[in-house]
Amino acid sequence: MANSTLGKAAILMFGPPGSGKGTVSKVLMARLGLPHISTGDILRENVQAGTALGREAKAVMDAGKLVSDDLVNRIAAERLSRPDCANGCILDGYPRTLEQGKVLAGLLAKLGLEPVVVYLDVDYNVIVARLTARRSCPKCGAVYNLVSKPPKAGGLCEVDDTPVVIRDDDKEDVIRQRFANYEKQTQPLVDFFTGKVKRFHRVKVGEGSPEENCERVCRLLANG
Ligand code: AMP
Repeated sequence: MANSTLGKAAILMFGPPGSGKGTVSKVLMARLGLPHISTGDILRENVQAGTALGREAKAVMDAGKLVSDDLVNRIAAERLSRPDCANGCILDGYPRTLEQGKVLAGLLAKLGLEPVVVYLDVDYNVIVARLTARRSCPKCGAVYNLVSKPPKAGGLCEVDDTPVVIRDDDKEDVIRQRFANYEKQTQPLVDFFTGKVKRFHRVKVGEGSPEENCERVCRLLANG
């Protein structure tokens, strides 16, 4: 897909945890040649590396709560100011609250990037089934699903043979907490951007495969 239809845009991926934002974002990254920025990934990298930022965020993340607006706003401002974002980017998991949305809207205006929203809409029950089956490799980060993409026999990572694990924040009670947080904190954000952006694409996912959902999103973006 040519980037010309899109212009200089920051694609904001909205959708509850488990809606497939990460998967769709990675496909868009490859198709559009834009960097994929996930605040969750950046935070997890920091937790893994034991940085001060990671130590600050870990307990909050393990409890399924959101880290502070100030912390993620700083992460996003630093990342968006890098040269690879000059023509646009895909934001996955940020903004998550109205406060973050307001800060981001100001930042994008300064950077000359148009916000384009892609909202992946999905039922809670579909999400629980998907996330409780998710496993990841603690060494290389490869993601598996016991149903659709199982690891090697014995539950080992295909890449480096490390036993795969369930992420602390993919446990069912934590998922419920994250979904409730999402509804409470993100709905006002969706309302804020609904009135503000020219392009707001709401896509009902759930029934379709990840590949089909990616195709639908790509078509919507290509058609403006
Ligand atoms: P994710 O992989 O996007 O689901 O993020 C994993 C965890 O990182 C979340 O449950 C939050 O604790 C934290 N996190 C990621 N992005 C944000 C954000 N924009 N605002 C607050 N917390 C975030």
